[in-house]
Amino acid sequence: MGALEQIRDRGEKLPRASRISLGQLRRPPPAKAETEQLPARQSSGGDASPSLRPTSDKAALLEPIRARVAVCSKCQHLARTRTQTVFGVGNPDAELMFIGEAPGADEDARGEPFVGRAGQLLTKIIEAMGFKRADVYIANVLKCRPDMPRGSSGNRPPTPAEMQTCLPYLAEQISVIQPKVLIALGATAVEGLLGTRGVMRELRGKWHSHQDTPLMITYHPSYLLRNQAPSEKRKVWEDMLQVLERIDRPITEKQRNYFR
Ligand code: URA
Repeated sequence: MGALEQIRDRGEKLPRASRISLGQLRRPPPAKAETEQLPARQSSGGDASPSLRPTSDKAALLEPIRARVAVCSKCQHLARTRTQTVFGVGNPDAELMFIGEAPGADEDARGEPFVGRAGQLLTKIIEAMGFKRADVYIANVLKCRPDMPRGSSGNRPPTPAEMQTCLPYLAEQISVIQPKVLIALGATAVEGLLGTRGVMRELRGKWHSHQDTPLMITYHPSYLLRNQAPSEKRKVWEDMLQVLERIDRPITEKQRNYFR
């Protein structure tokens, strides 16, 4: 950092660095006890005991983004009405990242995405895939609950302006986490990631790409709650089997035959 400051002070052409590199530069140096243990690990080539391992770089890189989101007031109407922002939850080193629309009332109250009825269904899907909820990363296009008229309990989809304002935060989360596969849940997530509002029936179940990361599109769990037809659950499950294949996860007979 000192060298960079000297370059700046001399008025030379400024070096360019990605946000990720800047985040790494800004991280405080490891604690003394930790650095004292490191040479032995490096010289022997052995693995440090888990208790000496520094926290995940990605977790550290997410923190300043989370902090900016927590105080964001770019959509003043949402900042006024939210209980809190809902950043994202899960493993920063996740292979899979699920993207939803926006927090509902339950998420706004708890500060965690997908904790209401739709969230419970999403958790079941994740577990049926052989993961724990904490193994994957879950985030939304919008970090604030879309405001509703006083006394009204439902949800409304984000407006295009709200999405444009909030999407850079999601882009930062994705660029830190760099999942192997992104999963867009429903049309708002598709619009956020692909910039187009297509027909879900035509988009789902196929591979798309978001900035070189494979993207699977599937129905939002709320759709499955509204439409209980086994055929629709089956479609989401087939989409998830494609995801498991893409990340080379073995698929059991039982998993293959769900909803058969
Ligand atoms: N629906 C979403 O899209 N996101 C949530 O966090 C909860 C419900």
